[in-house]
Amino acid sequence: MADTLLARFLRYVQIDTQSAEGNPDIPSTPGQWDLLRLLESELKELGAQEVTLTEKGYVLATVPATTDKSGVPIIAFMAHVDTAHEFSGRNVRPLVHRQWNGKPIHLPQDVAQVLDPAVHPDLLTAVGKDLVTASGKTLLGADDKAGVAIVMTLAAYLLEHPEIKHGKIRLCLNPDEEVGRGVAGIELDEIGANAAYTFDGENPGEVVWETFSADSALVTVRGVSTHPGTARKYGMVNAVVLAAKLLSALPREGISPETTDGRQGFIHPYKMEGGVEHVTLHFILRDFEEAGLADKRERLRRLCRGLQAAEPRARIDCRFSEQYRNMGYWLRKDMTPVDLASEAMRAVGLTPSSPPIRGGTDGSRLTERGLPTPNLFCGGHNPHGPLEWVAVQDMELAVKMGVELAQLWEQKGAGYKGYPVKRKKA
Ligand SMILES: [Zn+2]
Repeated sequence: MADTLLARFLRYVQIDTQSAEGNPDIPSTPGQWDLLRLLESELKELGAQEVTLTEKGYVLATVPATTDKSGVPIIAFMAHVDTAHEFSGRNVRPLVHRQWNGKPIHLPQDVAQVLDPAVHPDLLTAVGKDLVTASGKTLLGADDKAGVAIVMTLAAYLLEHPEIKHGKIRLCLNPDEEVGRGVAGIELDEIGANAAYTFDGENPGEVVWETFSADSALVTVRGVSTHPGTARKYGMVNAVVLAAKLLSALPREGISPETTDGRQGFIHPYKMEGGVEHVTLHFILRDFEEAGLADKRERLRRLCRGLQAAEPRARIDCRFSEQYRNMGYWLRKDMTPVDLASEAMRAVGLTPSSPPIRGGTDGSRLTERGLPTPNLFCGGHNPHGPLEWVAVQDMELAVKMGVELAQLWEQKGAGYKGYPVKRKKA
């Protein structure tokens, strides 16, 4: 299995599927179609059923049930085909370091890029394993092509082994996770499962069921623009100065990304543009709890009100948009998907861990919409940059864990409700 898994992974990472912010198309870049079409044809070859590639770039397929039992929930396995936009994903040249000896690796296309266990202690878990890295000029794309290779290998394995008892399994490979629109172009009934899992986590054993709750805020400051030579006479109100005041009034210690970790949330100004007449400030607000998020909205609102009161000639406007919510709110009501995943981890010799994730996943949005979707490990590390790496044996463990998970749902899942899948009309 390790060989086909590795071959798949190497095939997928060499296709440039970087997604792009700001492009309203779904998928946001044409390169993603290349991989999506390849996956569609590979699934057909493997003998998967109901293989479709939707107009919006989602590959869907079915591994039919092998059990006679009725009432076994349908589960879905998911991964995203796009890679991050922060670092080049073009002409990825993956390198395989067989039975890696643990010595620092200087990536050949940029020897300043070094994978050194002294700097990246997670690498110690990869000594003796087959390590895959990029070559220095690009990211590797293990986020999330490790997940894609895992889902594909898992499907192939189950299709080849009908003696393994499991219920109906749906597969969904989606675009544009990295630009926050990974599940914007799909209906839950298209996925067609009662519960789902994304393979998009890091360390072996991870079953993530808590993510941030997230809002964005857009603050606009309107000033009064005049010629600077006659600014006093005509009453210039400088939006740039007011925006700077707002930012300097924002507390930092314990409430900015740079000063928080663990379960703390933050307010993060990440973009500012404009001039004397008009400035826009873009913020993201994060917290694990709704109350904490509401408190952060209130803090920002209060600062805007204060600024407005101090300069009545300006117009300060503050608008919030909801981005996603902590999947824990819904999963806590019925932990079956998490419990079975943890049991599957133990069955392959891993210790399950559930660190709260300081970000969101496609599963955050799916869970909020009604499809419970925890996130499982796929073994990738240092995502979004040139020092990304993954060990083949860790990906293989994820596949084996997935096989266990499918069987556990067959054995113990009866009665689970999850998302109420609508039956297709005949
Ligand atoms: Zn990812």
